[in-house]
Amino acid sequence: MDDFAANGPEAPNNGGPQAAPGGPAAKGSDEKYCADCGARIKVRAEICPKCGVRQIPLTGALGTLAPNGKSKLAAALFGFFLGSFGAHKFYLGQTGWGILYLVFCWTAIPGVVGIIEAILLLVMSDEDFNRKHGMA
Ligand SMILES: [Zn+2]
Repeated sequence: MDDFAANGPEAPNNGGPQAAPGGPAAKGSDEKYCADCGARIKVRAEICPKCGVRQIPLTGALGTLAPNGKSKLAAALFGFFLGSFGAHKFYLGQTGWGILYLVFCWTAIPGVVGIIEAILLLVMSDEDFNRKHGMA
């Protein structure tokens, strides 16, 4: 074991691929290409350090997530199944509306409206969803 550290300084880790000069560098498993300029950036990078373009948001188990972590699909599911209680309103941060739905949950109205809003959420584009609900 005495010779273990005698490999000289800066023994290279056998981890990631070394950028071969002249050849095209391979894309590592934790890397992706920028959606705009094609630069090699980290998978988790939100903004390309090269061109500054925001990357497509991470896709979670519930589909695309807004910048604030809200999921359009989750909101739609809440509206569909728990619309009578305003669950999707609470989820989207519209607490006032949520309370209103809750107050009228004994009528059929919030349930029907919740299902309609769930459908509207599902057909809404991710961009629209992010603009309306994804920034708070
Ligand atoms: Zn870029």
